[in-house]
Amino acid sequence: MQEPTLVIIKPDGLVKSLTGNILTKLSDSHLVIVAAKMKTVSRDLAEAHYGQLHDKPFFEEIVRYLMGESHTKRTMALVYYGEDAIQRVRKICGATNPEEADPATIRGAYGRITTKGVYENVIHASSNKVDAEREIKLWFEPDEILIDNLYPTKDTTKSYKTRAWV
Ligand code: UDP
Ligand code: MG
Repeated sequence: MQEPTLVIIKPDGLVKSLTGNILTKLSDSHLVIVAAKMKTVSRDLAEAHYGQLHDKPFFEEIVRYLMGESHTKRTMALVYYGEDAIQRVRKICGATNPEEADPATIRGAYGRITTKGVYENVIHASSNKVDAEREIKLWFEPDEILIDNLYPTKDTTKSYKTRAWV
């Protein structure tokens, strides 16, 4: 089944200049990148992204981690698309806990656990179809994704102040 999955190179991955290494490992999947951008994560986005973990004792720490409070306020968000994309990308990422992750995986190779106990595992990847849809809709607008009708859309008129090149 062809499906999309959300990948985020987290602020520790960017500050350690691991972007190329991470994308190279992901390219083994032969999936197609259908969206990509750099993004600064607001508190609202971080809290919504990790909403299902709201009750966990480490919730505030991972919100601050995704916002880049201790690294850099940059993330790189991508949508990969293809056959079994969700499971295939998760496999390349490795286990959540970098100490348990296979060293051949992204998290096993590059992740660490901080002295506060946070798993700084350099990459996020959606866990299942429902999460992928919820997360992609949080991070991307329909027109930023190079697949028509990935999810249903509606026409809307937005009026807000924005910047343009001079
Ligand atoms: N996390 C952590 N400690 C834990 C569990 C999770 O620091 O005991 C962090 C870790 O960065 C992880 C993120 O919280 O990637 C989200 O947790 P989740 O259980 O969704 O793991 P994932 O889907 O990222 O493998
Ligand atoms: Mg998760």
